[in-house]
Amino acid sequence: MNEDRNSQRLLILASKLGYQTRTFAEAAARLGVEVTFGTDRCERLEDPWRDGAIALHFERPEEAAEHLFAKLGERTPAGLLVIGDRPLVAAAHLARRLDLAWNPPEAVENCRSKLRQREVLAAAGLPVPGFFSLRAEEDPAAALPRIKFPCVVKPLALAASRGVVRADNEEEFLRAARRVRNLLESPEVRALHEPESNRLLVEDYIPGVEVAVEGLLDRGRLRVLAIFDKPDPLEGPYFEETIYVTPSRLPEKTQQEVRECCARSVRALGLVHGPLHAEFRINARGTWVLEIAPRPIGGLCSRALRFGPQRIFLEELLVRHALGFAGRDWPREPDASGVMMIPVPRSGILERVEGLEDAAAVPAVCDVQITARLHDYIAAWPEGSSYLGFLFARAASPAEVERALRQAHAKLRFVLTPRLPVEHPATGRVHEAG
Ligand code: ADP
Ligand code: CA
Repeated sequence: MNEDRNSQRLLILASKLGYQTRTFAEAAARLGVEVTFGTDRCERLEDPWRDGAIALHFERPEEAAEHLFAKLGERTPAGLLVIGDRPLVAAAHLARRLDLAWNPPEAVENCRSKLRQREVLAAAGLPVPGFFSLRAEEDPAAALPRIKFPCVVKPLALAASRGVVRADNEEEFLRAARRVRNLLESPEVRALHEPESNRLLVEDYIPGVEVAVEGLLDRGRLRVLAIFDKPDPLEGPYFEETIYVTPSRLPEKTQQEVRECCARSVRALGLVHGPLHAEFRINARGTWVLEIAPRPIGGLCSRALRFGPQRIFLEELLVRHALGFAGRDWPREPDASGVMMIPVPRSGILERVEGLEDAAAVPAVCDVQITARLHDYIAAWPEGSSYLGFLFARAASPAEVERALRQAHAKLRFVLTPRLPVEHPATGRVHEAG
């Protein structure tokens, strides 16, 4: 490998210091790569690389990029990776400053807001649902004449299907709009400082089957790493994800249409380099773009993807790609593979999880991870955004993988107790305690 030390230096920008950060760090270590880390959650960082993580404010992206540039000094990275949505714009400015292969700021801006993304894709002639936006504090009743039912209401700036609600009639729409507005006003969402977090998007509901695409762009060329089927119907009113299985069981012609739609969407948005995660719906009227994000699939889900003879995880493939190392073009392993994001049946305090051993013993199940913390409150969708955990399976066929995930899930029992309602002493209004 190259003598120049910096050719082995990787910059990782992350807002969430979750499992994925660790997986990237482990992959980098295995490859002998030095990592510089930038985050806006430094207080929780244990400095795992003893390299002095750089503290940043991603909500001021240009400033964050300048600050990073100054702090990096001699430690010029040869590659860049971003975890989560929040660092994306800062990353793009920095990549331009350092002349690193990545996406330009304009392209990332096109993806950042769900409204902007719809506008750009619609202008380029891509099939997107009909849409309009409204301010959260506006009277939603005024929007009624513009709505085609069924519709979907969603915040412009949240993720993981948080606050995404289907409404089939005027009454449901008004209720959904109020519910999403309450979510946006919650202290927890406000603390994210998301720009445009006071707006809602209203869209036509697109019926059909849904797929997720994991892609990797290399200087404008799109490689589809995997198409995941989502075999559970996602018909609302809330859209919590559950099972992802790859390879897709859709006809090859349909998969080709998904690849083409993805490539056209990516071009329209101006994305050119690095990982992407996208969602599409397919029905008799064609392939519809739901969303494209210029980052890899989040959380633990990436563990469903392994590549090449060494069965490396997606994160290692991405590290190799970011630094131009060998192995960056390895194909996905031949086995079918899948993950279940374990749904939250209802909001409550997670007291106990039963059946873990039985779930792990289901043939083809390769991992059971409970990520929710015991005795913590966990919110169900649409307010929620984290799963109880993840189940993984591998087998010769996608059908076997799906069956194994369902069997394993059926063995699990989550004991959730509701928070006690308490009356606010001053207002007399009833709140949930905790
Ligand atoms: P998020 O960024 O929170 O994932 P999305 O816009 O991707 O938000 O919506 C989450 C899910 O909600 C989608 O995967 C899909 O199942 C459903 N959904 C969103 N918009 C529509 C729509 N217009 N028609 C049908 N389903 C939709
Ligand atoms: Ca999505």
